[in-house]
Amino acid sequence: MRFTREFAGVSAAALALLLAACGTAAQAEQENSGPQVDSESVATSKRKPKSTPEPTPVPSVKPSWSPTSGDKTVYLTFDDGPGPYTQKVLDVLKENDVKATFFIIGKMIRTREADLQRVYDEGHATGDHTWDHADLSRMNATEIDRQLNKSAVAIGPKMGPCMRPPYGALDGEARKLAVSYGMTPVMWTRDTNDWNKASESQIYNVLMGTKPGDVILMHDGGGDRSNTVAALRDALPKLKDKGYSFASVPVCLPIANTQ
Ligand SMILES: [Zn+2]
Repeated sequence: MRFTREFAGVSAAALALLLAACGTAAQAEQENSGPQVDSESVATSKRKPKSTPEPTPVPSVKPSWSPTSGDKTVYLTFDDGPGPYTQKVLDVLKENDVKATFFIIGKMIRTREADLQRVYDEGHATGDHTWDHADLSRMNATEIDRQLNKSAVAIGPKMGPCMRPPYGALDGEARKLAVSYGMTPVMWTRDTNDWNKASESQIYNVLMGTKPGDVILMHDGGGDRSNTVAALRDALPKLKDKGYSFASVPVCLPIANTQ
């Protein structure tokens, strides 16, 4: 893929700097759009141009992200792809005009570039889910670096400045490293348990229990996701009828979408 090749020669350090820059922009956008506004970000965004150049601000990626929305926005997230069900998930999202976030496993892209391209073409956000679904809490700094940066290079420059740790396992060192690369960790507030062989009706019931601001954990890879697709197809129109809207996780938007 074009951007994969372009990024093949980028060093991890250079990528970290790029992502750190992206993270600053995305974080500022998120903070400026919600009620819990970071005063430092507002001060930066409203600062009038001065005649003397200012020092480059230090990227301020926070150690975690939580939805601040008081409205009925919901954040659908799909982990472990791209896989055989990614296109089906994308079909359902498109049918319902819904935007979501995909946490990508880097090594999967080698055989599924078209799936990732469609994720981008249809306006969804992406984040890093490590190179091969690693448990970062069991790794040393060198291994964590490789897992996050090799995957980020494969996902390409449209990847949002965010990550989700496989198994939700993120100890202090891994969190610190992710943040130092400019990747905001994004967890979830509602688990469909589709990773644990939940039935279609079980997944549907979890979806229909959605509350405003929920970040919903689902999967488009890692196994048979036909129940996920079917439950999503049933639930999305009903949730929209109940007044819910759907958006990509703000801190996962690529920098081009935050300006
Ligand atoms: Zn996963």
